[in-house]
Amino acid sequence: MSKLTHEIISTNSNHLADEDFDLQQMISSNQFGTFFGVSQKVLDTVWKNLTSPEGNSVTYISMEIGADLDVFHPVTNRLNQLKITEHPDKQLHSFIQSFLNGPVKIPNYGGGLGILAGDTLKSMADCKIPAIAVSLLYHKGYFSQLVDSKIGQVVWSSDWQPENTPGLYLLKNPKNPAEPILIDVPFYDKNNVKCSAVAKIWIKMEISENLEFFIPQVLLDYQTPDSPDWIKDASQHLYDSSSEKVKATQRRLLGAGVAPALKALGITSKTIHLNEQHGVAVVMALIADNLQAKYGADYERQCNDQDIIDAARAVSEKIVFTIHTPVKAGHDRFAIEIYKDLVSSFCERVLNLIARDEENPSFYNFTSLAMKINRTTNSVSRIHKEVTRKQFPQYADKITAITNGVHHLTWVSDAKAELFDTFTELANWREDPSVFAGAKVLLSNNKFRTYFQHAWAEDSKTLIDYVNRMLLTHRNQRLETWIDPPNYLSYLDGEQSTLNPNHFTLGFARRFSTYKRADLIFEDIDRLAAIITENNWPVNFIYAGKAHPSDDPGKELIKNILAIQEELFKKSNGLARLVFIPGYDMLIAKMMVAGSHAWLNSPKRPLEASGTSGMKAAMNGIPNLSIMDGWWEEGYHDGKTGWKFGYENPISTEYINEQPSSLLYEEDSSSFYQVFTEVLATFYDPIRHDQYLDKSIMNLIHNCPIFNTHRMVAEYVSRYNISLPKAVQEKINKFSKLYCSEQSD
Ligand SMILES: *Cc1c(COP(=O)(O)O)cnc(C)c1O
Repeated sequence: MSKLTHEIISTNSNHLADEDFDLQQMISSNQFGTFFGVSQKVLDTVWKNLTSPEGNSVTYISMEIGADLDVFHPVTNRLNQLKITEHPDKQLHSFIQSFLNGPVKIPNYGGGLGILAGDTLKSMADCKIPAIAVSLLYHKGYFSQLVDSKIGQVVWSSDWQPENTPGLYLLKNPKNPAEPILIDVPFYDKNNVKCSAVAKIWIKMEISENLEFFIPQVLLDYQTPDSPDWIKDASQHLYDSSSEKVKATQRRLLGAGVAPALKALGITSKTIHLNEQHGVAVVMALIADNLQAKYGADYERQCNDQDIIDAARAVSEKIVFTIHTPVKAGHDRFAIEIYKDLVSSFCERVLNLIARDEENPSFYNFTSLAMKINRTTNSVSRIHKEVTRKQFPQYADKITAITNGVHHLTWVSDAKAELFDTFTELANWREDPSVFAGAKVLLSNNKFRTYFQHAWAEDSKTLIDYVNRMLLTHRNQRLETWIDPPNYLSYLDGEQSTLNPNHFTLGFARRFSTYKRADLIFEDIDRLAAIITENNWPVNFIYAGKAHPSDDPGKELIKNILAIQEELFKKSNGLARLVFIPGYDMLIAKMMVAGSHAWLNSPKRPLEASGTSGMKAAMNGIPNLSIMDGWWEEGYHDGKTGWKFGYENPISTEYINEQPSSLLYEEDSSSFYQVFTEVLATFYDPIRHDQYLDKSIMNLIHNCPIFNTHRMVAEYVSRYNISLPKAVQEKINKFSKLYCSEQSD
């Protein structure tokens, strides 16, 4: 147990009355249910904000939200601090048990977009921003990944039980509390006959670190007896792309579900934030509302085309849109034919007016629609702003940059958090990540330097122990299952079959998509092996990541990584050991970004709109070794915080494509080998090692204050149409003053 938790416990443990008091402070209820983690006062305040007649709140819409409780769990922390494991009150007891022992992973995210959403909501909770999120609940989640040495990625369905998940509540119908509240979401067939999709509403609470605020995530669950089978099928798996119709249906289940859900709960938000265009169907309902206000119930027949365009313009004022990628697969186009089977003829009329694809008129383009219908469009880094302006020149004026961040309390490892708690220079870092900016003195503080290295070593050991256990498990499973261990090391014996935590460890974990170029640094294995053997510098390469099940080139990349392992091992005389960790998720991400010695990012510039795993590394003081793309152009600070490599092409249309022939392998990889030699020399040379440590600590000073979601949310708030209490606004101002994504310096 850490020193700090111990102190907190000792001040509480002899006051039984205090404990009871605290627990009563952790339960609350309203007409929709009973919730654990916040007090009645907090629940009432949050709900009052969200239902205020002024509409002073934001609704945040995202296809996926990743906020696993095994990496950030303020409620469980509080129970642990109070050493509470049971309670005479039956209901409290069952909540306590569920938070202490229940399943904690919710496979409701696929990758970066979802984790950004989760981090955003957690920072909104910490900063007390009145907001609510809407997403879908996928009973089979995103797929689980197994990896076989020959087959590569094997897809596995991830069943989970929402009813057994702490922090997740099925809302009751206030009129009939024995039943869940249900909403009706309109769908129509070819003949314009209505058939309703019916959803239950779950709430997951994103509770602030101090339990004083929360953001509800509304998760729409279409697995109800009244939903037609094709609707149920389309809502089981996140990013199901088994057909274009299923894909279009899933998007619509999100967007068209927003208005009925908000109405059922009485939520009045006057700002809607679209996290990517997936939920853009929400604007159709808002346009209909607008027309109905003008023409009454018969608006469909009464209104003319100009009315519709005017209504769309009025609706734009409510929408804030964040675009996340210049990559084509991330943009939504659907054939008009498919849409005829889903929506009313009036909805078709609206789409024909505002959503026709310019290049191909038999398609609707929903990315363009989202670009059009908003008050402001935000890209996710400065470089991505330039890219987006090139891609959508007609909207260039309203495209601004708000560089992404990560929730520092989620991503700083326990060992580093304990270190930060120990130094008064960093007092209050949990509440206020900007304090790192004022802590330059730590760079020359020998005690800090020593403690920092100890914490780092502890994190490396956690990561390497995990990998070694995994290698052994795979080896043992060889006889029991048909899955062959994915890693070459599982087939070796003794010392050769493990990694050493003292060896330099390079981490790489991302979605396996061709433009991210997971195999870039293995372009010339002989050269890589020579750098390592000539200098006797052992290196662990640790890789992880999923490829979307229908992304065949992405799956090939995983196979390539596995195929390289043996060759690299042999050519480097066993000094270079490449390991792939299957099943990339937030827990694995957290171990990797804290336990590596450098974090690798090798995308084709300028296609990595932001990238957030490198920010998570930076929060732990891990230097990045990256192509000058996404956030790194802002986080690099002339090399004070890490290294760059690769060709810095101009940001022009010519480079904004993912054609295999344009992936610029050679030029980028050859510069990698030069820089990597430098990185290893700095790490392994006992005299130069101090410079390595400087770069690490510079990450805390320069990057922690900026690339966190508190600062990002502060910038977003300026785009929202909401007013905040003075104290909240002051806190926010402090973060947004520190950095302005818009300025280029
Ligand atoms: C952070 C994270 C991502 C996104 O990382 P990028 O650097 O943006 O590619 C994806 N998956 C998991 C599990 C993560 O934690």
